[in-house]
Parts: sequence; C-alpha cells; structure tokens
Amino acid sequence: MSIFQNTVFYTTINHLQDLPPPNGVEIAFAGRSNSGKSSAINTLTNRSRLAFVSKTPGRTQHINFFKLGDRHFLVDLPGYGYAKVPSEIRKHWENLLSTYLQTRKSLYGMVLIMDVRHPLTPLDRRMLDWFTPTGKPVHILLTKADKLTWQQAKSTLQNVLEFLQKTYPQCSVQLFSSTSKKGIKETYTVLEAWLGLASTPIQKTKPIIKVKT
Ligand code: GDP
Repeated sequence: MSIFQNTVFYTTINHLQDLPPPNGVEIAFAGRSNSGKSSAINTLTNRSRLAFVSKTPGRTQHINFFKLGDRHFLVDLPGYGYAKVPSEIRKHWENLLSTYLQTRKSLYGMVLIMDVRHPLTPLDRRMLDWFTPTGKPVHILLTKADKLTWQQAKSTLQNVLEFLQKTYPQCSVQLFSSTSKKGIKETYTVLEAWLGLASTPIQKTKPIIKVKT
C-alpha cells in the first residue's frame, strides 16, 4: 500500500515556534485558492475529505500538517490569491510561509498545483521565486487536465516545460486530474523518491524535467 494512503491529520500551526520538530521528510503542497490543491491531496491520499480540514474556518490561513506513515509529513500551505484577506493577515501569512519555505531544514521539496487552464500566474511565479533559491525540487501538477482536450493539455504542458527549462530548471511538471485520476502514478513516483522510498532515489543535484502526457 502506498504511504499516501496512510495519511492522518496531525496539527495546524499559525506561528513558526509551533512547528513540529524537524524529524522526517516534509513535502509541501502550495497553490492558488481554487487551483484544485485540496482535491489533489484528497486524491493522492485516497481520502475524500482529508485536505478539506485545511478549509475549515480558522485554519485557512494556517499551515496544516498531515502525517504520512510513521515519520513523514505532507504539509498543506494556505491557498494564495484570495482577494478578501485583510492586509494584516496577508502580511502575517506571507512571513509565515516565506520563512517556512526558505528555512525549514526537513522540507524536501514542493508540489505546486496550478489549474492547467491558467498556469504560471504572477503569484505562482512569486511562489517559485521564494522557493527555488533554496535549490530544492519543485514538482508542478497541472491539474483539472480533464477540462481540456488531450491536444490542448499536451500543448500547455509543452509550453510550461519550455518556460521552466529556461527559468526554473529544478522544476518538473506533469498533467493531473482529480476527477479522472490522470497522472496519479507519476506523482507517486516523484514523491516516493523524495521520501527515499524509491529503489533509485532522484539525484538532488540534477534538474529533472518530466513530460507526462
Ligand atoms: P483549492 O481551493 O485549491 O483547495 O481547490 P479545490 O480542491 O477545493 O477545488 C476547487 C474546485 O475545482 C472545486 O469545485 C473542485 O471540485 C474543482 N476541481 C478540483 N480538481 C479538479 C479536477 O481535477 N477536475 C475538475 N474537473 N474539477 C476539479
């Protein structure tokens, strides 16, 4: 059984001092509000409502930790781009998030969720600009791929890939759909390698560019 199917809610944090001890490997999930992040987490963990915990009042601007197996964590970061957030809260959120992303030693890599119909928005670029200087890998899921024809999805994937190769070479990218379950196996392959569960771990020093259609 995949380690992702053994995921349970662990804790919610709103202040850096409340982060759990940095033992084990953490994989962060980020994305714009409504990009399909919660659905992707629920699909990958095979739990219909797990990540909706992060959407309950009082938790939406917080970092939510889900335990993967005995010692690893899936870390659900607050969705960004939601216009109604007051500026005080937005500042607190930006500080919490950027400090976590830039300094957390146990954080291995980031899964960045983008709606395949609106990839690489300015806020997605800003997230990449915060995180990629760490040198850690980013795997992008172009989700809701079922909303496009195969040709459209493939062409978007190719355009995003070309842009990443030039600008953010440590990013890999694939198509994904929580509705049709497209791309789940490819995602598991990347994440299991990050968690050290694959037979041939991904080399951290080499950029990996994946094209999955
Ligand atoms: P979040 O705000 O990023 O966590 O986004 P949600 O997971 O709540 O999804 C936002 C909306 O997009 C919901 O109406 C979902 O049902 C829909 N959605 C999410 N993933 C997919 C997908 O792969 N395909 C389709 N067709 N709809 C999706």
